[in-house]
Amino acid sequence: MKLEGIHHVTCITGDAPANVDFYTGVLGLRLVKKSVNQDDPTVYHLFYADEKGSPGADITFFEYPGAGRGRAGAGFVHTVVWRVASGEALDFWASRLGVEREGDTVRFADPEGLQHELVVAHVPDEPLIAEHPEIPAALALQGFEGVRAYARDPESRTGPFLDALDFERKDGATWEARGESRGGWIEYETAPEEPGIPGAGTVHHVAWASTMEEHEAWQRRVAEAGGRPTPVIDRFWFHSIYFREPSGVLFEIATLGPGFSTDEDPAHLGEALILPPDFEHLRSEVEPLLTKLPNPRENWTRA
Ligand code: ZN
Repeated sequence: MKLEGIHHVTCITGDAPANVDFYTGVLGLRLVKKSVNQDDPTVYHLFYADEKGSPGADITFFEYPGAGRGRAGAGFVHTVVWRVASGEALDFWASRLGVEREGDTVRFADPEGLQHELVVAHVPDEPLIAEHPEIPAALALQGFEGVRAYARDPESRTGPFLDALDFERKDGATWEARGESRGGWIEYETAPEEPGIPGAGTVHHVAWASTMEEHEAWQRRVAEAGGRPTPVIDRFWFHSIYFREPSGVLFEIATLGPGFSTDEDPAHLGEALILPPDFEHLRSEVEPLLTKLPNPRENWTRA
């Protein structure tokens, strides 16, 4: 039983309109779902991904309006690593983002300081691409390669746990989850002395992908490995369990489906505020509390 790489990465923003601008307007991702935090339905949960809203390319943000900047420390994911097709794509992004290409890498931060990195893909995984009028498909982001996290002594603490979850040890303190369709990795780096502070520009959790059939078996596997998984939670677009790995990083295992087209026309993903059925009765209370967001594709001139 193998996890199918990274399903999604969830982060925190203090400024939803600027967040939409950056992830759709600059990075060229598609806003595929505009919803609310199911644990606090007065704030947004925004989902960006490829054209189809695929697991493997889905970066999501809880909005806490006006939240101060956080800081990654031990037990935090601090960098999201994306794939692109080629060195030409790295040059394109370095120029578009106004940063220098560093060898085979382009590093940049979002407006709230969340770190990203682009690398050239060396795997056969399907490229997960969104359409954008300024970004040729050959140069677009292709989904997640991995995440980098801070930890103290990950070898002895987290290593045996990830081994038990069938992650494969790579060079250094890197573990890869590679299933039949996709793979993704987590690399641990030595944590800074200062403790982390959750807040805008920090990662909340990383979710790994499982098939629907194997999801409950994963919950048992996590418990056998010494983790303390939550019960299976129905997030409507997927099912989830959550647990902290021994270095403190919050992990989720989420199912490959049913997906974001369950409750929206695939041609209009992300345009309306979508509340899962259990939350629909709160719409009249919740909607006035949320910052109005533009449809990022409203002014597109299609070729
Ligand atoms: Zn999640």
